[in-house]
Amino acid sequence: MPTFIKNGRVIDPSQNLDGLFDLVLADGRIAEIVTPGKSKATAGETFDAKGLIVAPGFIDLHVHLREPGQSYKETIATGTMAAAAGGFTSVCPMPNTSPINDSPAITRWMRDPERGAHVNIFPVAAASMGSQGEQLTDFAALKRAGAVAVTDDGKPILRDEIMQQALAAAAKLKMPVVQHAEDTRITRDAVMNSGPTAFRLGLRGWPPEAESSIVERDLRLAAETKGHLHVAHLSTAAALAAVRKAKQAGIHVTCEVTPHHFMLLDEDITDYNTNFKMNPPLRSGQDREALLTGLADGTVDCIATDHAPHAHHEKNAEFDRAPFGIIGLETALGLSISMLHVQRKIPLKRIVELFSFNPARLIALEGRGTLAEGSHADITVFDPAEKWAFHVAHSFSKSKNSPFDGWRLQGKVVATIVGGKIVWQSGENRK
Ligand SMILES: [Zn+2]
Repeated sequence: MPTFIKNGRVIDPSQNLDGLFDLVLADGRIAEIVTPGKSKATAGETFDAKGLIVAPGFIDLHVHLREPGQSYKETIATGTMAAAAGGFTSVCPMPNTSPINDSPAITRWMRDPERGAHVNIFPVAAASMGSQGEQLTDFAALKRAGAVAVTDDGKPILRDEIMQQALAAAAKLKMPVVQHAEDTRITRDAVMNSGPTAFRLGLRGWPPEAESSIVERDLRLAAETKGHLHVAHLSTAAALAAVRKAKQAGIHVTCEVTPHHFMLLDEDITDYNTNFKMNPPLRSGQDREALLTGLADGTVDCIATDHAPHAHHEKNAEFDRAPFGIIGLETALGLSISMLHVQRKIPLKRIVELFSFNPARLIALEGRGTLAEGSHADITVFDPAEKWAFHVAHSFSKSKNSPFDGWRLQGKVVATIVGGKIVWQSGENRK
């Protein structure tokens, strides 16, 4: 029996669509996309999307779901429930689990239905064994097991020859190498961005060059190998300028930016609140301005959350000692609409592109990131006008380490549909 999503404003960059359409779903796919009321199908349940945006399901290229090994922080089940509540229909868990996801067995384990995932899981596997940066993993076997990219995220691939080999090997499989761009030789013991705030707080600062120098090295290697470099959580003006220039030169490079980096600044760290400690660190106003420009002009390819849950006892420590990272799945859309659309006037179509069309293309997910007939019925329905308050106590994540607790946001997910099934629906709109 088909299901209808009626009267919504469909924004689908893959087909250059922005207008009122009805969707007809059947067997987990988009069966039809038609002018309202014009479908020949009649019987079926109807979801009324009047006044709402209907978009291809959001895809988060960068999440930490902490399984296997650290299920006290998060599980695949709880993390993907938070993803569903945040409008994400697919997520890419990073390999810095325990053990590290450097084998087809662990990649398959993550994708096993036994894990109870609420949305699609497309793992990013380790680029080197144990993410030690010395010996490459078996990219072809990892890809067959379901991995969509490789990375040693949590740390960089530091050695030139290993990064070069990784780019060359991944290129043959048309997979990106995702780089956590941090020259750890110059960030030792650093806990926040270097600058006046670090000086005032007496904390060790982390220079922006730690990111841009690795990005510049990687761009040279990408040019040499014709490999696809994807820069994770890009945070500095210098790195963004390097990516922009490389794109113009035809180098295969893409990048993602997190909501916290386009929203917050290093100077927001006022009272050693460890929910403002992340890697890369919050940067200067000039860096944030550059990211906002890149998000508007197309230099930035995706918004990714870097959802990084940590238990209360871990974050409840001195700033120097607390682990890096914050949760981010449930606040990503609200922060994006509030900052990018309301304040910066970036069109909704561009925001949808950043959340779904671009990430799907980046990791070559067939039939996702689009609402074309025949594609998977992965759909995010949201209200760009609704104002709401985020309360971390209500988060579906096992961890509550968010700097946005109590924030008023505009833009709310109303329903998240995966393979034609509603996996999350906001209370007010439940019928
Ligand atoms: Zn990282």
